[in-house]
Amino acid sequence: MAKKRINLKISSVDNREMRLGTITSWDGSASELVEASRYEARGRKKTAGKGRGDCSGCQGSDSGERKVCRLQELKMPFNQQTMCSHAIVACQLGNLTDCILVEHSPIGCSASNPRFNQGFKIGLARRGKPIQSLQVCSTNLKENDMVFGASDRLRQTIRDAHERFTPKAIFVSMSCSTAIIGEDLDSVTAEMEAEIKIPVVPVYCEGFRSKHWSTGFDASQHGVVRQIVNKKPKKQNDLINIVNLWGTDYFTPMLKPLGLRVNYLIDMASFDEMRQASEAAATAAFCHTLGSYMATALEEHYGVPQIDAPQPFGLAGTDDWLRAVAKTVGKGDMIEEHIESEHRRIAPKLAELRKKLSGVKGFVSTGSSYAHAMISVIRDLGVTVDGSIVFHHDPVYDAGHENQDTLGHLVKHTGEVKNFTVSQTQPFQFIGLLRRVNPDFIIIRHNGLAPLAARLGIPSFPMGDEHFPLGYDGLIRTGEALLGIMAKKKFGEVLKRHAEIPYTDWWLSQEDQFILARHPEILDEEPDAGVTTENLVELGADGSSKISEANLRYA
Ligand code: SF4
Repeated sequence: MAKKRINLKISSVDNREMRLGTITSWDGSASELVEASRYEARGRKKTAGKGRGDCSGCQGSDSGERKVCRLQELKMPFNQQTMCSHAIVACQLGNLTDCILVEHSPIGCSASNPRFNQGFKIGLARRGKPIQSLQVCSTNLKENDMVFGASDRLRQTIRDAHERFTPKAIFVSMSCSTAIIGEDLDSVTAEMEAEIKIPVVPVYCEGFRSKHWSTGFDASQHGVVRQIVNKKPKKQNDLINIVNLWGTDYFTPMLKPLGLRVNYLIDMASFDEMRQASEAAATAAFCHTLGSYMATALEEHYGVPQIDAPQPFGLAGTDDWLRAVAKTVGKGDMIEEHIESEHRRIAPKLAELRKKLSGVKGFVSTGSSYAHAMISVIRDLGVTVDGSIVFHHDPVYDAGHENQDTLGHLVKHTGEVKNFTVSQTQPFQFIGLLRRVNPDFIIIRHNGLAPLAARLGIPSFPMGDEHFPLGYDGLIRTGEALLGIMAKKKFGEVLKRHAEIPYTDWWLSQEDQFILARHPEILDEEPDAGVTTENLVELGADGSSKISEANLRYA
C-alpha cells in the first residue's frame, strides 16, 4: 500500500517549506524557475511528513557530495510586511456559516478581522447566501495569562461560544504567544469536545511556524478533513468539491453540461457542506496553491480523486481542466464536442478583444499558481507579459500529479516570462520590479500594493473576485474589464506627475531588488559622523560629489 503524503493521525500540519520546498524570494525567468523547481522529481517523492525541499534529482547525489538543491532561495535579511498563517485561518475557518473559530491569542492577532468580515459579507452576497458577520471569538489574552497559562480562559471561551451561538463545530487556532507558552490545544479541545458534544478542532497556525501565510490554508483544511468530513461517506456521483475563496459562482454554469453540482469549500461553507466533502465524485480547486492540501487529503483518505490538470483559466488551461474533469467523472466521450462549441461561441468576441489589446503590456502580481493562470488569460487576449511577481513559489504541489505543474504549463503553452520574481508583498521591491518592466497595467491581489503602482502612473486591476477570469466566459469578462482599466491610463499619468515615491534615490537606482540578500553587510554600514538626514537629502538632491556611497543609502 502506497505511503500517504498527508498524515491525518497528527493534529498539526507540516509547513509548506518542509512539505513542498516553498520559497519566498527569488528572481530570474519563468523557465529558469521551472528548471530549478524540478517538479517531476519532487512529485515522485511519496513521503508523508518529510519534505521535498531537496528533490532526489539535485546536484551531487551520484558522487557522494552533499546534495545542493537547485532552487536556491535568496535570503532576505528582513521583511517589510507580511501576513501570517493565523490570519489566513481567521479568513477561512472564521468564514463558515454555522461554526465558530476561537482565536487563542491576544486581541492584536485579530486585527485583520474587520477586513475579513467585509470580505465574508461580500462573498455571501455574491453567492446569494444570507449576509452575516464573521464567526470569530478571541480568548483576548493578557499579561497574566502569559505568565500563569491560559487554558482555563480557553475552556471558558469555548463554553461561552457554544452557549451563545450554538455552532455545529468549534475550531481553536494557536497563535505565536500561546505556542510560546506551550498551551496544550490537543488536550483542551479533546476535553471540551467530550463536554459539549460537538467537534472541537485544534488548528496549529502560529505565525512563526511558517515563513509563508499559505500554510494557514493547509492548517484549516487539515482540521476539516481530520475532524469534520463524514468518515462513512455515501457517494454522491454528481457532486464535485471546488476548493475556493469568496468568488462568484461561475463554476456551476461551467460544470452543468457535465451534470455536476458544486460543493464549495471552505470559505462560506456550512458544516453539512464540509461534511459531505468525502462523498464527492472529485475535488478540484480554482488555484492549486489553495487547494492542493485538501484535494490530496480527500484523495488519499477517502478515495475522492482530484482533477489532474492545471487550473481552468485561459484557453489551454480551461480545455485541459474540462477534459480532466470529464475523464474523472466518466463523461470523456462528450467533452471534445463541448470544447469545440465553446471555442466557436467566444471566437468573434475574443478576436475583437485581441485586436483592441494588441500591443498592450501587462504585469501580474498575485499568489503563486493563480499568477500562472492570470498570465495565460491575458496572453490569450493578445497582451504581452514579460514580468510578474508571485508572493511565494511552491516547486511542487501536494499530490505531485504531473499535469498540475502550473508554471510548467504556462511556459509550455504561452512561452517565457523574462522577469519572473518571487517576493512576499514587499513594497520596497515592488517599485523597482515594476520599473524594470514598465507595464501598461497590472493585475493584482493583496491590493495594498496597488497605490505604489499608481504613483508610477500604472493603473491596476485589483482581482477581488478570483473567479472573474474563470473559463471561456472569464476570458471575455477579463478582456472587457481591461479595456476599462486602460481607459484610466491618462489619469495615471497625471497622478504620476504629482506623486512622490517614498524611497531614496540610492535605493531607486538599484537594478537588483535583491541586493540586500546578496550583500546584507550594506545594512551594517553607518552614515558618516555628523551628517544628518536633512543635509543628506539636500546633498543627494543636487548630486554633490562630497556625499559618500554609504551616506547616499540613508538620504
Ligand atoms: S504573527 Fe503571531 S503575533 Fe502576529 S498576528 Fe500572527 S499569530 Fe499573532
